[in-house]
Amino acid sequence: MLEDKNQERTSLEALGEFGLIDHLTKNFALVHQSTIKGIGDDAAVLSFTDKNTVVTTDLLVEGVHFDLSYMPLKHLGYKAVMVNLSDIYAMNASATQITVSIAVSNRFPLEALEELYAGIQLATKLYKVDLIGGDTTSSNTGLLISITAIGEVRDKQITYRKGAQKNDLLVISGDIGGAYMGLQVLEREKEVFKVNPNNQPDLSPYSYIVERQLKPEARKDIVELLEKLKVVPTSMIDISDGLSSEILHLCKNSEVGCDLHENKIPLDPTVIAACEEFNLDSTLIALSGGEDYELLFTIDQKDFDKIKGNPNLTIIGHMTDKREGTHLVSRSNAKIPLTAQGWNSLNTSN
Ligand code: ADP
Ligand code: MG
Repeated sequence: MLEDKNQERTSLEALGEFGLIDHLTKNFALVHQSTIKGIGDDAAVLSFTDKNTVVTTDLLVEGVHFDLSYMPLKHLGYKAVMVNLSDIYAMNASATQITVSIAVSNRFPLEALEELYAGIQLATKLYKVDLIGGDTTSSNTGLLISITAIGEVRDKQITYRKGAQKNDLLVISGDIGGAYMGLQVLEREKEVFKVNPNNQPDLSPYSYIVERQLKPEARKDIVELLEKLKVVPTSMIDISDGLSSEILHLCKNSEVGCDLHENKIPLDPTVIAACEEFNLDSTLIALSGGEDYELLFTIDQKDFDKIKGNPNLTIIGHMTDKREGTHLVSRSNAKIPLTAQGWNSLNTSN
């Protein structure tokens, strides 16, 4: 991180727009039958037969969504794809194609864009999606990346934010809070580096949480697991903004309430350790941290046996009648109203 490798710099002007697009995209293979035509014409051509098509877009802006002083471009390319695939998986769909649009200032050499596309390519390979197009333009202010992801899903499997019923179980994949704590570590090291540029930080104690921030993985495996277990969630969302705000989305869209149990929230030991070091409350970080790209969903109680004991899944609460509201049930059994920021500590109802 943060090092200047004195790499070769080829100016983008030297290639021209078409040369650049061709250079960056020539090694991408197409694997899906539904991709009839990818890059190279005025539009891509797709053909889905018996399934529904799902489409999602995200725009990432330098200085707002990422900081290139600690985010290597390869990781950025990978993460930009993950952010989009996560939204496809949150519909219980499988991802099939992406488009990638970039606006780039001429402070970036070709080698920088090669790095970005190396990350995008790794993601497309591992997650089996076809890069089918995009747009390339210049920017005066920094780097912008917009990715659109396309996927497919059968009628019976589509999972919306609405659909949760009273008494459904609330389930989360993986563990949370890591991406936020990884960011805290990276921000701290950036400040140290500003004071002493020769100081190369030892991030090894923080490798899990730093990786959660720099190289998140979208939970394709969970969609596949649910299919294998024959469980169709009653509602689902991905955790981009933090557990608390995502629970509120599910409750609002489904018109139900929820009891979330603090002692069930899955936290990695390194997240707990980092929270202690930074003097932060680990529950608050789990609730409001964000960027974990885990899946949060509800299931009918009849499906409990199918998912219980699975190491990838944790039951963290259950849905209640809308009139009961949306609460965190604390370790001391207090019921605290959830807010989008975490909880409202001034408004305990117990
Ligand atoms: P147009 O002038 O019709 O917008 P472009 O010259 O921008 O066409 O694009 C030519 C082809 O290259 C199209 O298939 C387009 O989807 C693709 N493309 C352009 N920019 C990118 C990019 N950054 N990444 C991937 N494909 C791209
Ligand atoms: Mg174009």
